[in-house]
Amino acid sequence: MVDFQAVLDEIYAELQNTTDKGAVASYIPELANVDSDNFGIYLNNIQGDDFYVGDWDTPFSIQSISKVLSLAKAFSLVGNKIWDRVDVEPSGNPFNHLSLLELENGIPRNPLINSGAIVIADILVSELENPKADFLAYVRNLTNDQTIDFNLDVAASEKETGYNNYAAANLLKSFDNLENDVDEVLDFYFHQCSIEMDCQQLTNAFFLFANRGKCMRNTAHLTLNQVKRINGIMLTCGFYDEAGEFAFEVGLPGKSGVGGGIVALLPNEFTITCWSPGLNDKGNSYLGMMALEKFTTKTKLSIF
Ligand code: GLN
Repeated sequence: MVDFQAVLDEIYAELQNTTDKGAVASYIPELANVDSDNFGIYLNNIQGDDFYVGDWDTPFSIQSISKVLSLAKAFSLVGNKIWDRVDVEPSGNPFNHLSLLELENGIPRNPLINSGAIVIADILVSELENPKADFLAYVRNLTNDQTIDFNLDVAASEKETGYNNYAAANLLKSFDNLENDVDEVLDFYFHQCSIEMDCQQLTNAFFLFANRGKCMRNTAHLTLNQVKRINGIMLTCGFYDEAGEFAFEVGLPGKSGVGGGIVALLPNEFTITCWSPGLNDKGNSYLGMMALEKFTTKTKLSIF
């Protein structure tokens, strides 16, 4: 039996004083205000024991990590029809890359790059009665925490500078792969990305992907087959053009966001979240990547 707390303490001690922590995202102006010294880790094993260190209870912007939760909701609502509109191949490109989308006739490579997540947002805008409120309720329900909320300043800040996402949405619309208005879909997308959670809440939100589709309260939200597919997409596409590197170094399905969070999981074993807002040049948390490499190396626990 691995002593998870000792391993987390060791990793924290080894990385806490690292001087190069990467750069906090500034293309969304509101995110630039976050202190790059924050560093926290939280782990929940499948039995429900938890282990934590550092700034695990400070909320941060989950950003692209929300794409997995929107995919889960859309998958549970419309099933395999999703794959008519978005593919499941790694893109090998940055999260906001556009030229492949044009080359491939408006079918995004996968649901975890921005264009793919915008298609998923479009599905939710069509399917949900009150899209933003219903999606927030879904995330609160998965996490069993009614305090989770959007950060409206972050959503507004991204809307002001979101030229690249407007370009993606317009391109999708021109290829007939967006049912709703560009503004309506992006309003939903910017809000989903602005959700704030701490490491504990994110770990709890992702518990179902390690627990065969059942959330913390043991309610089933996804079938085992759907969990297999979403974990496969996280493994191959969760880190954009660093997905291969994450599989190579860490060996777990996971997802990053430009707020500096990374969630990863080992099916039937545990879910873990690291947060350190400084990013590497691929837009993934600099310390988070290192912490998770150390974690799976020290514990010898990975899918491989
Ligand atoms: N909201 C961000 C964007 O669309 C999410 C990107 C990310 O976290 N990688 O640019």
